[in-house]
Amino acid sequence: MSTFPPSTVLGYPRIGPRRELKRALESYWSGRSTRADLDRAGAELRERTWRRLAELGLHGLPSNTFSLYDQVLDTAVLLGAVPERYRDAADPYFAMARGTEGLAPLRMTKWFDTNYHYIVPEIEPGTVFKLDASKVLGEVREARALGFETRPVIVGPVTFLLLGSALERLEDVLGCYEELLVALAAEGVAWVQLDEPALVGDRAPEELAAVRTAYERLGAVPSRPGLFVASYFGELGESLPVLAGTPVEAIGLDLVRGGLPAADLTGKIVVAGVVSGRDVWRTSPGRALSLLGALQAAQVVVSTSCSLLHVPYTLADEPELEAGLRGRLAFAEEKVAEVVALAEAHARGAAPGTPAGTSADGPVSGALLWDDDEPSVELSWDDEPSVALLPEPGPASAEAVKPAGERSPYPVRAAAQAEHLRLPPLPTTTIGSFPQTGELRAARAAVAAGTLSQADYERRVETEIERVIRLQERLGLDVLVHGEPERNDMVQYFAEHLDGFAVTRNGWVQSYGSRCTRPPILHGDVSRPEPITVRWARYAQSLTSQPVKGMLTGPVTIVAWSFVRDDLPLRDVVFQVADAIRQEVRDLEAAGVSIIQVDEPALRELLPLRRADQAAYLEWAVAAYRRATSGAGDRTQIHTHLCYSDADQILAAIDGLDADVTTIESARSGARILGAVSTFGRGLGPGVYDIHSPRVPSAEEVESLLRRTLAALPVERVWVNPDCGLKTRTYEEVEASLANVVTATRHLRTTL
Ligand code: GLN
Ligand code: ZN
Repeated sequence: MSTFPPSTVLGYPRIGPRRELKRALESYWSGRSTRADLDRAGAELRERTWRRLAELGLHGLPSNTFSLYDQVLDTAVLLGAVPERYRDAADPYFAMARGTEGLAPLRMTKWFDTNYHYIVPEIEPGTVFKLDASKVLGEVREARALGFETRPVIVGPVTFLLLGSALERLEDVLGCYEELLVALAAEGVAWVQLDEPALVGDRAPEELAAVRTAYERLGAVPSRPGLFVASYFGELGESLPVLAGTPVEAIGLDLVRGGLPAADLTGKIVVAGVVSGRDVWRTSPGRALSLLGALQAAQVVVSTSCSLLHVPYTLADEPELEAGLRGRLAFAEEKVAEVVALAEAHARGAAPGTPAGTSADGPVSGALLWDDDEPSVELSWDDEPSVALLPEPGPASAEAVKPAGERSPYPVRAAAQAEHLRLPPLPTTTIGSFPQTGELRAARAAVAAGTLSQADYERRVETEIERVIRLQERLGLDVLVHGEPERNDMVQYFAEHLDGFAVTRNGWVQSYGSRCTRPPILHGDVSRPEPITVRWARYAQSLTSQPVKGMLTGPVTIVAWSFVRDDLPLRDVVFQVADAIRQEVRDLEAAGVSIIQVDEPALRELLPLRRADQAAYLEWAVAAYRRATSGAGDRTQIHTHLCYSDADQILAAIDGLDADVTTIESARSGARILGAVSTFGRGLGPGVYDIHSPRVPSAEEVESLLRRTLAALPVERVWVNPDCGLKTRTYEEVEASLANVVTATRHLRTTL
């Protein structure tokens, strides 16, 4: 077996530094360009990545880390797991990813504990696996034509089957993987990377047996490339000795989240993930080099802890970041430079624990590699540049925050709220956002570019709020919202108005398909210099006699969708944010807002992968939410919203939030969730309108969903609302759908 290149990364961003892939995809989907145009855009991005990685001095270049949509979907296609119903679609790949007219897409869910979403493989007893290695081989050849030898990266058989809940099909898929190894060997490929992140979770004995079977079988393929099994997002634990006992030559360890391996790896190549792929902080060279020095292995390769998919491309595109913060940061390119510098230092035998910057051979921290000599890239404005809007000062909130948990028991609160709000049975409401118009986004861009004044922009926001209020009044909704027109994003907006955060201009990270987010960077102590949402809430309430809900993002979600400082326990950071939200809640209340919704859609996402760690997380996450909301008086109704329904593992925690009303996804997931949440004993709004689809539900359909809800829950507790915010829909769809929701509710009220 050939030696492994001394430095590598497990994967790389692919959306393009200027989101070129997003634009190419959206243009192809809308029929403005051809499949050939799209493929050309993909090839350009791949070439750019390989050239850049080589320029930065990286030795082991990966291939097949590019994807037009998602690497798990690519793996399904590689193995022939394309459900029958998609095969005749004009483009089966995108039909699976996004659906077509009349054909729903495959399910999508979050990739382990990240905010990246993958397409869930659909594997049925009748699925016939059949290798289609064209993409994998194509990328190997494409790179070779450019002068680069690469290591193809493929989701491994155990993770693939676990994600598809079909581990019993192991024998069948292994046949495909064996065939693939033979084809790669024939192509002259020296190493293949099989990603097995599922092995860092709790694995049952039969799952560990599957790991053994898989890698013994693949190891036994007579003529094959070297096998590199990559784990990430945590420690391998019980999977490590199993994997170590198989013939795989190289094992990848996440040494940022996990510690040194407990099993004997002296006969293996260890691909040491010492540079984090999950955060944006520079690597401590001292820590990294001492870990590298402590590894007992046949060869130690320096690498990232996971794919760099989860971080933005480069700091070179962020000229506006404050210098002090900038010096602490590393994005993908800078992390590659760190990997290279660490590999060189390790090869020179830097003593473990020696601060790398002080080595006799000069700095090895990588700083010199990317500071000012970074090739500068032309900056262009994105359609959503960050803008710091200064809200007008609201009522002072200097009053020291009271300890959490001081609200009265629910029945007392419920009585006070009923008295104060006087809502009809089955109150109707929405989740917060109304469609975001292109004009508003353009207006934000114009403010950032200096061509629109702040005052003019704020007038436009007010006009939009008024339009949304009048629409809701016309529709006959009971509890109104202001529509969130001032927010580019439910997290970024708060980050822009809190101290301790920085926002980037180009720091896009793929969320799914063509969708990207720009996570803020939480780098210091968080505090709220002044009220954030109060002026808009007050304005909205001034327009109507109906109650208007104040709308806030919860502390866990703000932190989950940001890059977070690593010098404080996560819990402490979340509590700082909770205190800021708590002040906002109190100011909203003081401004006369009687219903306040604090969204916490990321509560599930941060759940640790190992069961042993979950209870502690849930305990502080719930405590933080209560800290944020419990400053409200009994008369103020607190709502919360969660977007998903696969909440089984965290139901008790959701209940523990103690919100007066919880709105949750249920239009797709059906009755199951109703049974699960029926024990909450407070207000509940299971969604009756699936906002993820452009379809307008009929009044009959909404009514039958409501009847289903009423069969599971007492009528006094039921709220009527869509599944999630309406931001991504059109006004046409929203008006028609909400009209039907109101019609159905009113009809049902007459039968009570
Ligand atoms: N209030 C937010 C909205 O309506 C909630 C979004 C979410 O749950 N992701 O857009
Ligand atoms: Zn939602």
